[in-house]
Amino acid sequence: MAESLETALVPGRTCDGCTLCCKLAEVKALAKPMGVWCKHCDVGAGCVIYETRPRECEVFYCLYRTAKGISELWRPRDSHMVMTHEPQATRINVWVDTEFSGVWRNPQYLRPLRQLAQNMLRRRGSLIVWEGNHGTAILPDREINLGLAMHKQIVVMGRDGPNGEEYNVEAWERDDPRLTQI
Ligand code: SF4
Ligand code: SF4
Repeated sequence: MAESLETALVPGRTCDGCTLCCKLAEVKALAKPMGVWCKHCDVGAGCVIYETRPRECEVFYCLYRTAKGISELWRPRDSHMVMTHEPQATRINVWVDTEFSGVWRNPQYLRPLRQLAQNMLRRRGSLIVWEGNHGTAILPDREINLGLAMHKQIVVMGRDGPNGEEYNVEAWERDDPRLTQI
């Protein structure tokens, strides 16, 4: 996926050799679910229908391509993870290639994830690691298993504690009556 909308891309970074979003992203126009290779992907090379690919593919770039603050460590081809930002949900998503399940627990990744999560939580946002439909909320001091949370509402709660602000993250059904109270 990628490589056409020339907006706010980090100079010097390319998709060359990486097609991981063509596996991990959902593509509604093609009825392609998350986590399976798109039938149009030449894995590691590119899109074989590049000129006519769906608009959602055309405009997609992962955070590695668009965010200067995301270091080379997160290059999807090497990390086996694709980071995206959902501004309307104030959320960073980390989609993990399930062939490399648990890779995010490696301290070289978990440490920066905790720092990023801290920044998101201060804005009542969240950082969720997704392995398939299974979500794990990252907090500065722990992880919270959200279960099969992909289609649920992620709710972030904070309160003053003896050591500063304390956070909790839960996944609620979208018709949960508590959602009308927040
Ligand atoms: S259509 Fe092309 S860009 Fe879109 S997911 Fe498939 S291979 Fe990737
Ligand atoms: S995951 Fe990111 S770096 Fe890899 S092909 Fe997609 S947009 Fe490019």
